[in-house]
Amino acid sequence: MAFQINIGDWKSKPSALTRLHSVKGGDYSKLRQCRWKLIKLCKESPACDAYFRSLPNGRTLTSLVNDSDVWVSLVEPCPFNYGESFETHKAIGVTALALLSSREQLFGTLIHEFAHINGVGSSGHAAELALFACGMGSWKEFLTGIDDPDTPYDPTIDG
Ligand SMILES: [Zn+2]
Repeated sequence: MAFQINIGDWKSKPSALTRLHSVKGGDYSKLRQCRWKLIKLCKESPACDAYFRSLPNGRTLTSLVNDSDVWVSLVEPCPFNYGESFETHKAIGVTALALLSSREQLFGTLIHEFAHINGVGSSGHAAELALFACGMGSWKEFLTGIDDPDTPYDPTIDG
């Protein structure tokens, strides 16, 4: 069983999470497609799991993606561009902007948020670096610190 996408069926949703909402048809399809891609990525990219194992909670991306206690919802309103995570509740929120962005960007947002679920705090570059570790950035960006808008990884992101 993989992580869950909230389509209004999150019965155990903590009442404190008032900004998390269910996703509708088209957005559900996009997230479902991302879920398949994540399952595939975990099988094909051991470097991704190796990076996740180095994060505070020490869980692999494979373990997080296959955790049916993790729920992904729409978050609104949200102070961040693409997503927000609630580590103690294993809850991930993606914004309307992330859902409107390219599939690659939405996919990258989920990887970034899974890093937060794995204990990465809200400052520093460790969450975004997961995208690089998972092959979604270029060495040039990594080495120069200058973002290439053609890749989901952004070396300038803090938090
Ligand atoms: Zn973040």
